[in-house]
Amino acid sequence: MKILILGGTREARELAHLTAGERGFDTVSSLAGRVRDPLLPEGEVRVGGFGGATGLRDWLAENRIAVVIDATHPFAATISANAAAAATELGLELVQVRRPGWSERPGDRWIRVADLDAAARALTDLGERVFLTIGRQGVGAFAGLEQHWFLIRAIDPPEAPLPPRHELLLARGPFTIDDETELLSAHRIDVMVTKDSGGDQTDAKLAAARVAGLPVVVIDRPRLPPGGIEVAGVSQAWDWLRRNITRFDAGM
Ligand code: NAP
Repeated sequence: MKILILGGTREARELAHLTAGERGFDTVSSLAGRVRDPLLPEGEVRVGGFGGATGLRDWLAENRIAVVIDATHPFAATISANAAAAATELGLELVQVRRPGWSERPGDRWIRVADLDAAARALTDLGERVFLTIGRQGVGAFAGLEQHWFLIRAIDPPEAPLPPRHELLLARGPFTIDDETELLSAHRIDVMVTKDSGGDQTDAKLAAARVAGLPVVVIDRPRLPPGGIEVAGVSQAWDWLRRNITRFDAGM
């Protein structure tokens, strides 16, 4: 079974690891090439964009891919839409791996917003010293906020214009609750902004905010495009692949 894993996430690396050790699976992982020093999946890896949905469609056909696993980050909406369009056009199976979003717990003070611009607007009334933990992309939406001070955390430096008053912290998770608590206190943070990324790699910040009683602006996920088989994690995706391998072996 020839598989393309669209990656850039822990789930994608775990699936690459599982398929690498199993007979019958021929897997290529794809990374966008955004991070300077990426965590590489096991097995064959290609890096860089395909050239939109059409480029991806052509690449899938040329490489005789039977199954596309979209294990990209929940906020990587463009590549997910391209994967859905290309898979539909070619009649390929598409498995969409989407870890569940985070849920509010007692003591949380969350403000859910639809997108980055709404998050920037919400900050007006919420605080002055902001922990902006949305990754490198999207930081530009906050560039016009001159009254706030930002602690911006990302793996690599953002390319977009940054707000005038900020400190950049380059770091890659996972982070502990103690570390996050110390960070909030050391920078006198009074409000946090996060995407609803889900998962346990970066959720310690939410626990730290809860303990500190801080408001958290939580940006909702973009909608997953229709047309795929949606699964909540690696084990379900792996089950699907193992159940279906005989179908593709039989020459589908
Ligand atoms: P995006 O906005 O959905 O995609 C923008 C373009 O980047 C796509 O049109 C595609 O270029 C290229 N691309 C994205 N993912 C790719 C992949 N896995 N392989 C090859 N090309 C890819 O994506 P994004 O939000 O920039 O995310 C880029 C990567 O970072 C993804 O792999 C994602 O899993 C990972 N990531 C994203 C976030 C986040 O918050 N967005 C967080 C953690 C990790 P072409 O149109 O030229 O094919």
